[in-house]
Amino acid sequence: MPRTYAASKALFERAQRVIPGGVNSPVRACRSVGADPVFIAQGDGPIVTDADGNTYIDMIGSWGPLILGHSNAEILDAIKEAMGMGTSFGAPTEVEVRFAEAVTAAMPVMDMVRAVSSGTEATMSALRLARGATGRDKIIKMDGGYHGHTDCLLVAAGSGAATLGIPGSAGVPAGAAKDTIVVPYNDAAAVEQALAGGDVAAVIVEPIAGNMGTVPPAPGYLEALRAATAKHGTILIFDEVMTGFRVAYGGATARFGVTPDLVCVGKIVGGGLPAAAFGGRGDIMRHLAPLGGVYQAGTLSGNPLAMAAGLRALEILRRPGTYERLEQLGARLEAGLLAAAKAAGHDFCINRIGSMLTMFFTAGPVTDYATAKRADTALFASFFRGMRERGIFWAPSQFEAVFLSLAHSENEIDEICAAAQASLASPK
Ligand SMILES: *Cc1c(COP(=O)(O)O)cnc(C)c1O
Repeated sequence: MPRTYAASKALFERAQRVIPGGVNSPVRACRSVGADPVFIAQGDGPIVTDADGNTYIDMIGSWGPLILGHSNAEILDAIKEAMGMGTSFGAPTEVEVRFAEAVTAAMPVMDMVRAVSSGTEATMSALRLARGATGRDKIIKMDGGYHGHTDCLLVAAGSGAATLGIPGSAGVPAGAAKDTIVVPYNDAAAVEQALAGGDVAAVIVEPIAGNMGTVPPAPGYLEALRAATAKHGTILIFDEVMTGFRVAYGGATARFGVTPDLVCVGKIVGGGLPAAAFGGRGDIMRHLAPLGGVYQAGTLSGNPLAMAAGLRALEILRRPGTYERLEQLGARLEAGLLAAAKAAGHDFCINRIGSMLTMFFTAGPVTDYATAKRADTALFASFFRGMRERGIFWAPSQFEAVFLSLAHSENEIDEICAAAQASLASPK
């Protein structure tokens, strides 16, 4: 049956009157792939259904959090149970303690952890903490790295290897960008050079880049960042908002065995509700108010519903075989996409770690933002539209990862690969 989109279209028209661009986060508008958004009515396991009743195999997973799929019964039970006791208190609760115990146990570098409500808040707070603890202002981030929409992190690279940041968004004051140094991802020498003055508070990095599309760290890169930051008294922050509990239970930190000073987590850690956290070495964390002079707070921080959902998600992920299963599914998807690409005679670079993957429409290799940007985004856009028409909900941007969940099965993977082959064969 041909798909129709009348209900989504009507909702989009209403939405655009009262919400800027009709969406509450810009990528959802699907502008870069030349499509209108579909409005989602419900999700169940690996499947989402839109307002018109069209179904899709979901590869977005709410941009990472839904590693257990949609409407996981155990998560819903945990939320219902918590909800029966009230929804928010603004006073400490037991579930926050249990959440903190689970997160610090998963990530041994965290002597302590503080919960917040979004990844943006986690990285913003971790940076303030690093600046407060070191008494330094400068920070280093990677070109193409995304850490949420805090002013000092919405900074673009200028030209050259290591550049003082220029505002990456209207509304970011030059003053907020001037202390941010931007260097290419996977270029340890550029970081070493930028650290040499001894005046950098923190290096913040996605240990596996995910927001320029999936780009794994080159061998030795994370180790070199660790050594260089230690040498200069600079705090190393791993932003594991995407990779934490995704690429291994203990995140990239566990997967690569490199220990930063602070870690930010989010997405999966909220079990599909708004929660994130930052934590790390006790001597650094003790600078936070009320123990120390670095202020950080939140009315809904540690919200009992979000904590209960996150805690249950972590319990489920700790069961044996979780990450082996995700690896199996990921490998099957990668192999199927490569076969589809070969059949279509296209050059692709597929970067994958476990259950996160990006198919770059370029021969590659893609090792940083500059090489990612060589991708043919027009061809990607037509691929996206073809996939959606065939019932596959792919991320609507070339520079994003797609995610598998434990709710996906071999059947869905094979359907995705068949749709990819058809979409590549007849671009629309
Ligand atoms: C998603 C993401 C963020 C921002 O998290 P929000 O909850 O959207 O504010 C920060 N860092 C990384 C690596 C992310 O993937």
